Amino acid sequence: MTTSASVPAGSGNAAVGSGTVTDRLIEANARYAAAFADPGMDARPVLHVAVVACMDARLDLHDALGLSLGDCHTIRNAGGVVTDDVIRSLTISQRALGTRSVVLIHHTNCGLESLTEEFRHELEMEVGQRPAWAVEAFRDVDQDVRQSMQRVRTSPFLLHTDDVRGFVFDVKTGLLREVDPA
Ligand SMILES: [Zn+2]
Repeated sequence: MTTSASVPAGSGNAAVGSGTVTDRLIEANARYAAAFADPGMDARPVLHVAVVACMDARLDLHDALGLSLGDCHTIRNAGGVVTDDVIRSLTISQRALGTRSVVLIHHTNCGLESLTEEFRHELEMEVGQRPAWAVEAFRDVDQDVRQSMQRVRTSPFLLHTDDVRGFVFDVKTGLLREVDPA
């Protein structure tokens, strides 16, 4: 894995020249702020829903779900897996900010399908330290959605676990397919 922050040479965006990716983002933000009007919103999501999804760059949650600014909480990580930290965010989302529904979204062609827990061992060999976290790699996306739903439903910290639904987003068609929790 490489994590170079520089814009690759020949990336085709001549507007910025030699700036880094972050420089581009800061410039875009200046344009955004110039046209921005304070919407006067409360921090509590209008639709009382929290969406937990993979961080995949092909998944535009707001467009894919017809969401607008202020509608929902979005909690994203590699895989859209329900980890302890996702439970932390959901707990705050429900108890402090009034959400009641949870939507879980995994997707086709996820990077976690090509990893195994061996990744932790490889890291340990390379850096001399085994990470405390699980990779949460999976083979069967439906089964992983079910496991994530189960982790939400059985969390003792959450106030609302009656409306928890899980889906697989198809990166080729843009369609969501619901996963049967059974
Ligand atoms: Zn993914």
